[in-house]
Amino acid sequence: RIVYCAGKFVPEDQAHVSLFDRGFLFGDGVYEVTAVIRGKLIDNDLHLARFRRSLAELAIPMPATFEEIENLQQTLITRNGLTEGTVYLQATRGEADRDFLYPDGLKPTLVGFTQAKKLLGTRAQEEGIAVALVPDPRWARRDIKTVMLLGQVLVKRDARAAGFGDVWLTQEGQITEGASSTAYIVTDDNRILTRGNSRMILPGCTRQALLRLCDRHGLTFEERSFTQTEAETAAEAFQTSASSLVTPVVRIGDAVIGDGKPGPLTRLLQSYYLEAAGVLETT
Ligand code: PLP
Repeated sequence: RIVYCAGKFVPEDQAHVSLFDRGFLFGDGVYEVTAVIRGKLIDNDLHLARFRRSLAELAIPMPATFEEIENLQQTLITRNGLTEGTVYLQATRGEADRDFLYPDGLKPTLVGFTQAKKLLGTRAQEEGIAVALVPDPRWARRDIKTVMLLGQVLVKRDARAAGFGDVWLTQEGQITEGASSTAYIVTDDNRILTRGNSRMILPGCTRQALLRLCDRHGLTFEERSFTQTEAETAAEAFQTSASSLVTPVVRIGDAVIGDGKPGPLTRLLQSYYLEAAGVLETT
């Protein structure tokens, strides 16, 4: 695989970052994951806008222009012959002697790589997944897409060991979001609920694209938080992320959702999303 590492495209075994990079020592950096389907970047403008926002919130300078970053992503796709999978981007504050306080004028470290992965027609997409409910272990700035992901690593590991496909996080009886996805439920009267953006959750790019599609297709959604009980008794449930697209959720903790199969509105949203991504032909 050819990767991008601090200014160069190199084979992955020749990519090196300093031991003193603050991403490595402090988790002082941010990332983005963009889906690639049929060789095409999906919702990449939204991902680049969020990348810039995450960096600005941490006062890390943008390491390159949008155009340069998109060229870099395209080069990685082409050189690796990627048709389906993801492009990962990461920028850290840069390299300095280890100290919580950082000197002025650091040069951010920008890296990127592709991962080939089946995104369409996966078993999770077709049959839905069970999610574990776990108290949200994260810090208070979840709106910044930082590389500090240890909370998610641990809850996903434990959920997998307990036989679940993924995790929804809870706080004070409410669902915050998925461990690496946006969480949604559908009410009995076909309203789609997902939490409003705030510092409590990551503003999902797939969420933004999907809410736009709801508007376009006249589906009713409400941006409000919902409780664990509302989730457990919902008519339908699903989650979204760049790499999992729209994935039905058919069990939440011990509660079977609907009849235990992906719901009709979830199916409709899956097809609207793929259609907008140019994957399904419009009929
Ligand atoms: N929420 C969290 C905590 C995430 O890690 C992710 C993606 O990784 C999302 C939501 C979904 O964001 P997006 O749709 O931009 O991939």
